[in-house]
Amino acid sequence: SLETEKYTFQTEVSRLMHLIINSLYKTREIFLRELISNASDALDKIRFISLTDPEALKTKAGLGITIAADPERKALVITDTGIGMTRQQLKENLGTIAKSGTSEFLAKMEQNNDAITQIGQFGVGFYSVFLVADKVTVASKSNDDPDQYIWMSTAVDDFTIAKDPRGNTLDRGTQITLYLKPDAYRFLQEKNLKELVHKYSQFITFPIMVWSSEEQEVPVSSTQAKKEDIDALLNDDELMEEPIDQEPSSSDEKTEKRLVYSWHHVNVQKPIWMRDPKDITDEEHKEFFKSVSREREDPLAWTHYKGEGEIEFRSILYIPSVVTDVFFNNIKNEQSNKPIKLFVKRVFISDEVELLPKWLSFLKGIVDADDMPLNVSRETLQKHRSLRIITRHLVKKALDMFSSLSKSDPEAFKKFLGQYSTILKYGAIEEQSYRKKITSLLRFASSFDTESFSSSLDDYIDRAKANQKSIFFMTGSNIGEIEQSPFIEALLARGYEIIYFTDPIDETFVENIPGYNGKMFVNIAKADIDFAEDDKDFDRDNGLEAKYKPLTDWLSKTLDQHIEKAVVSRRLTTSPLAIITPKNGLSGHAQRVLDAQGV
Ligand code: ADP
Ligand code: MG
Repeated sequence: SLETEKYTFQTEVSRLMHLIINSLYKTREIFLRELISNASDALDKIRFISLTDPEALKTKAGLGITIAADPERKALVITDTGIGMTRQQLKENLGTIAKSGTSEFLAKMEQNNDAITQIGQFGVGFYSVFLVADKVTVASKSNDDPDQYIWMSTAVDDFTIAKDPRGNTLDRGTQITLYLKPDAYRFLQEKNLKELVHKYSQFITFPIMVWSSEEQEVPVSSTQAKKEDIDALLNDDELMEEPIDQEPSSSDEKTEKRLVYSWHHVNVQKPIWMRDPKDITDEEHKEFFKSVSREREDPLAWTHYKGEGEIEFRSILYIPSVVTDVFFNNIKNEQSNKPIKLFVKRVFISDEVELLPKWLSFLKGIVDADDMPLNVSRETLQKHRSLRIITRHLVKKALDMFSSLSKSDPEAFKKFLGQYSTILKYGAIEEQSYRKKITSLLRFASSFDTESFSSSLDDYIDRAKANQKSIFFMTGSNIGEIEQSPFIEALLARGYEIIYFTDPIDETFVENIPGYNGKMFVNIAKADIDFAEDDKDFDRDNGLEAKYKPLTDWLSKTLDQHIEKAVVSRRLTTSPLAIITPKNGLSGHAQRVLDAQGV
């Protein structure tokens, strides 16, 4: 039956659509990015299935996307030959939101209109169509459903789904028609449309064709496509095949200038990672980064690598300029971030494969491998030997990228540490084999320069006294707190430099990393600091202990419940007294961290 069923949108979807349709946004064009990315995902899915089931492509062999403006209906029509949707999938995918984060996105939008550009990151990119359209239809044909269905919404609280009254006009895939709002008619103009599609299609590996005109000398008798032919074309079976070259007209035939319409292939360039790194501009990298990562800001740095020998692959890794909450949430919830898109010989395979260790999973990018089986499950792939080799190469490349950033652009490197030093410390703790390299990248504040991220441990060691065997440090919640501590006096007076650890992870960091380059970390808030040779310069009055024995005895006795012992100290210069922890006890800062956590 052709009966139409009406469904109510999930409340959150309704709220989202109202917010989208009733506001004025500067950056409305992103709807096209979202539709192209959905079409590309759908094409990836059918291609992935076809690797193990070649029959899947029987319904339609060509894989691609077409985009056409229909000036009569004031509509934009985007068609893909991807996996398509069954009736049930139309209902679920375009009516409810399975993913979390929608409320977070709504809150963000209410705060700041600009947040709309991030819509894709929250798994609700499709609804951006209502930035430009007040009525949208989605016709879709899946291999899993004998019939084509059509979804329709006018951005109110409900949507309808019906068996498509036109029959199965698509062999397989999805056709989305946007009936534009009058203030969005400019998207119908060929020049605007082509420019936009170009912008958002460069990094899509499937052909994207825009229906466009060109003035040509054609024989008067020619029956080449005219504007009016668009309806026929949109239902054309041969849509995705390359356009056939026109027969050259014989010279004696009469010709005229005419606007000839045809599919114009917009994304003709090969994928950025296959090109010579030298030829790729910074702008191209920034655009590519934004398109693979859905980030808004430019990346801090990148590395484009061609692995040869042991295993052939290409990769590009980017450092996003800000670390997202999603990243830390995943780490906290023991979920992995899988930020790398894996291709095998230019075919997108998955973005679910773990190619980077957790502590590097803030990086974004792609890997395209040559020697990997195409037709195996994700699980088999994850265990594939080549993958481990690739991971090793990627880690090395990433660390090289960090250290060259530290040399080439110290400002950007500081920004990088501001975002990622905690996670790098976590990496140093976790990963023995890269510990030294990671630790060398870290920067700290110290008594030499209290600015954050100012000194490396190598800097510290360069400045250390000749016989100094320790790297002295003190932990605290901020520099001010440490500077007021009586513990630092004696060391500063003796001319030692002290590293100021203020990152909450630092306690754990120094517990796990005993030293660096042969020097041991020594917490100056703990007892028994063994000053090096040059301590001889300092006057020692051995009569002090005897002289103050009555006082220390009295203190020990009176504070019996609270302290282990009271002794005459040589670590203080101006403060009369300090309370310290035993060498193997918790430092005051660690104790406060634990107290705050209720441990
Ligand atoms: P996301 O792409 O992040 O999943 P969207 O709101 O963009 O979120 O899309 C929602 C879902 O609708 C997609 O996950 C997909 O299942 C389905 N979908 C959207 N467009 C298409 C399409 N062109 N072909 C097949 N499925 C689609
Ligand atoms: Mg999407």
